[in-house]
Amino acid sequence: MREGGELVFVAVGANLGDREASFAAVVEALETEPDLLLLAASTVYETDPIGPGEQAPYLNAVLGLRSWLAPLELLRRLQRIEATLGRDRTASAIRWGARTIDLDLLFYGDRVIELPELVVPHPRVHERAFVLMPLAELAPDLVHPRLGTTIDAIARTLFDPQSVRPWRRPEGWPGAASERGLRG
Ligand code: ADP
Ligand code: MG
Repeated sequence: MREGGELVFVAVGANLGDREASFAAVVEALETEPDLLLLAASTVYETDPIGPGEQAPYLNAVLGLRSWLAPLELLRRLQRIEATLGRDRTASAIRWGARTIDLDLLFYGDRVIELPELVVPHPRVHERAFVLMPLAELAPDLVHPRLGTTIDAIARTLFDPQSVRPWRRPEGWPGAASERGLRG
């Protein structure tokens, strides 16, 4: 197996259109990206929307990958996949509004990054049950480099099975058995 690289986690969310098809398309797109290796996928959850106005429920999940890309390049690739799958990134699109697909870079190894276009760890990761519950499946022992606490410890304080509910596995979404090398 290829040496080096860093372990990264990406949150996937969708609440418009065919959410399951979008999730499968994200996996397909990431698997064809050079310098990225998809290692593991969490359970997919259905979650109550947070944000302005009336919104449809989301599907949310987290992916674990090994990356040989610079963090900004990884962000650009994620944004390209969002654009390809129909996310409206024009100025009129409402922040935290409905979207076909949202890809957020949660962690890039243990790096702390504060650029205008990229903040890592993702600034709201420790507030969102719909991110922490799936992330805790993949990386319970991961230490948040700013907070100094484990994902498992943070997830426990936010555990919310009423608004974050296990969903079925979309066709094309990796099963737990496909997990490779996440802990190695
Ligand atoms: P949210 O994901 O918080 O609901 P958006 O996806 O609309 O909101 O936010 C996108 C913007 O956030 C992009 O312009 C991007 O440059 C910036 N951004 C900052 N940090 C990150 C990160 N860790 N992952 C993804 N986008 C980020
Ligand atoms: Mg986003």
